[in-house]
Amino acid sequence: MNTRRRQILKELNLLPVWRLKPGIAKQSTLPVPQAVEVEHSPLTSEPVKDSAQLPVSEMNWDQLKAAVSQCVACPLSQARTQTVFGVGDENADWLFVGEGPGAREDEIGEPFVGQAGKLLDQMLAAIQLKRGEGVYIANIVKCRPPNNRNPTLNEAQQCEPFLTRQIALIKPKLIVTLGKVAAQNLLNRDDSISSLRGKVHSYSGIPLIVTYHPAYLLRSLPDKAKAWKDLCFARATMQSLR
Ligand code: SF4
Repeated sequence: MNTRRRQILKELNLLPVWRLKPGIAKQSTLPVPQAVEVEHSPLTSEPVKDSAQLPVSEMNWDQLKAAVSQCVACPLSQARTQTVFGVGDENADWLFVGEGPGAREDEIGEPFVGQAGKLLDQMLAAIQLKRGEGVYIANIVKCRPPNNRNPTLNEAQQCEPFLTRQIALIKPKLIVTLGKVAAQNLLNRDDSISSLRGKVHSYSGIPLIVTYHPAYLLRSLPDKAKAWKDLCFARATMQSLR
C-alpha cells in the first residue's frame, strides 16, 4: 500500500487493513460442489427409476435380483451368508420349487447344489430334463433357515412377493413343488403331501403337481418310487399341455 493511500485511510480511521496471512489465502474453506450423476436409460434418456421405489410386482429380473440381495424383511436375513435367488432358464416351461436354501446353497448362492441337488438333477434327467434348459429352480424363501428348519409362516409370507414375481416373469407351463412346505405355501393349504400327490392343482391358473423334496428322499428311499411316479405324472401332464 503506497504512503498516500495509507495516509487517506488513516485519516478516515480505516486502519489497520485486514489481510489473510500468506498461505491461508490459497486455502478455500468453502465446500467444493460435487458433480451429481443421474442414471439414464440408454434408450429413452429418461432417468431410471430406483428399484427400491418400485413394487416387487413391477420389477424386471435385474431389479428383482437386486431387491432380493438387499432384503432384510424377515429374520432369516440375519444369519445368511448370501441370498439364494433361483437358477435356470428365465423362460422355462418347468418350474421346480423347494422350501429354502440349505448350508451348501447358502455358501454357493444357488439352490439345490448339495446331495439333494444331485438327486434332483438325476430326477430331472429321468424325465429328459436338465437344470437350466427349459427348467427354473427356486425356493419359497431366499435365505437359509438356521439348522435347516422349515421356514415359518411369517418368513414364507414376507418372501412370497419375490417368488410370485419370479413366476410372473417366467410364465412356466407347469410347476412342480418339492416337499410339503412348497406345496402348502403355493396352494395355501395345510394338507399332507400324500393327500396332495397324484393330482393336478392350480396356482394362479398354472397347473401344479406335488412331489417329495429330494432331501427327504435321501432319508426315505422307499418313497423314491412314489417320486418317480409323480415325475412320470408331471411329464404326462406337460405333454397334454402342448
Ligand atoms: Fe428377505 Fe426372503 Fe431373505 Fe426373508 S428370506 S430376508 S423375506 S429374501
